[in-house]
Amino acid sequence: MTVEQKRVLNTAIPGPRSQVLHARKSAAVASGVGTTLPVYVERAGGGIVVDVDGNQLIDFGSGIAVTSVGNAAPRVVEAVQQQVADFTHTCFMVTPYEGYVAVAEKLNEVTPGDHDKRSALFNSGAEAVENAVKIARHHTGRSAVVAFDHAYHGRTNLTMALTAKNMPYKDGFGPFAGEIHRVPMAYPYRWPTGPENCADEAFETFVSNVHAQVGEKRTAAVLIEPIQGEGGFIVPAPGFLARVADWCTEHGIVFIADEIQTGFCRTGDWFACEFEGVVPDLITTAKGIAGGLPLAAVTGRAEMMDAVHTGGLGGTYGGNPVACAAALGSIETMAAEDLAGSAKRIESIMLPRLSALAEKYDTIGDVRGRGAMLAVELVEGGRKTPNPALTAAVSATCHRSGLITLTAGTFGNVLRFLPPLVIGDDLLHEGLDLLEAAFAEN
Ligand code: PMP
Repeated sequence: MTVEQKRVLNTAIPGPRSQVLHARKSAAVASGVGTTLPVYVERAGGGIVVDVDGNQLIDFGSGIAVTSVGNAAPRVVEAVQQQVADFTHTCFMVTPYEGYVAVAEKLNEVTPGDHDKRSALFNSGAEAVENAVKIARHHTGRSAVVAFDHAYHGRTNLTMALTAKNMPYKDGFGPFAGEIHRVPMAYPYRWPTGPENCADEAFETFVSNVHAQVGEKRTAAVLIEPIQGEGGFIVPAPGFLARVADWCTEHGIVFIADEIQTGFCRTGDWFACEFEGVVPDLITTAKGIAGGLPLAAVTGRAEMMDAVHTGGLGGTYGGNPVACAAALGSIETMAAEDLAGSAKRIESIMLPRLSALAEKYDTIGDVRGRGAMLAVELVEGGRKTPNPALTAAVSATCHRSGLITLTAGTFGNVLRFLPPLVIGDDLLHEGLDLLEAAFAEN
């Protein structure tokens, strides 16, 4: 099934059929499960999402950085159809199968570093992060975990504790897991003494805070997103990541890169850590790994991964055969179609146009990101006060015009762009035209 790569607006957004479904949703689905744009999807392919009213929307969200290979990517569809007809589940912990092993081999191959590695598979990003922490604690015999301001690591109890933002992720859901310690992020745009001092000062603050408030010998792991996702696509000041990673090695602390959002070609390399030559001890992946099927992984140094006793890691569905088949199809697509190169192509088209927009509107305080993970941070004209109202308004205008956009940021003032890596240049330009029109209107 192919979807024509063209924007079509048949009705207002959301259309009448979507509205009927949304009324059913409100009556049947827990209201805590929110919806960014209530158009109900019938089909999707490449860079287009087709709704039940026949509207075709340009996708600048990829289901939050998941369908990097495009929706219903041919290799993924074929691999999944074959696998689902062969067998759907045996539980890898009971009677194993090749797909799981093949995904682990691929992960060990494509993740940064040429050291001996092992992988373990799970269902969601949060579960991968939980397991990375379990592994780091088991390996080190230490308990403390250091996470950063603006971090997002998931919605389970431990990962809520690791996540920085209160609303909507944590409010009313405590008490949270203990032994989580938060330190400032090297956030160039908002660094108090200016971006030029950010890497040095953030590193010094990190070191002194961990030393004084946690203690190196109590610290099992430092967990960081190499580019923060939900926190607002914050790219740490150059050099910061590498210095933190080296310092961790010096102190026997496990350096965990959470590449759940940045991984699998999204930022123009297979993994975002590669841009700065950083080799993490453990890396968590999910989202883009399997073209839309639920799969997640922890990959890392063999001696750390194998420190855990047999039976200490796993779960009923972890590394489900259908999800593994999808991952193999997805990873093959990334390599065959050079989707890392495609992420750079997307950056080369989007970044200049976003920068031009920032020249025009002083409400755009910062333009940042890498590859096909780009964002603008919106502020009150000429100042740095976050402007979540304008962010919501611009995003809503984009939605009405048939462009799926997402917001992010601790202060809700970041518009983020995550197009599928297979999106064509025409759709990309058309999406940017709609974004420009939305700024003109608001
Ligand atoms: N870590 C990061 C960096 C993420 O972006 C996300 C999801 N937004 C998660 C962890 C949690 O993943 P999941 O929603 O699959 O549990």
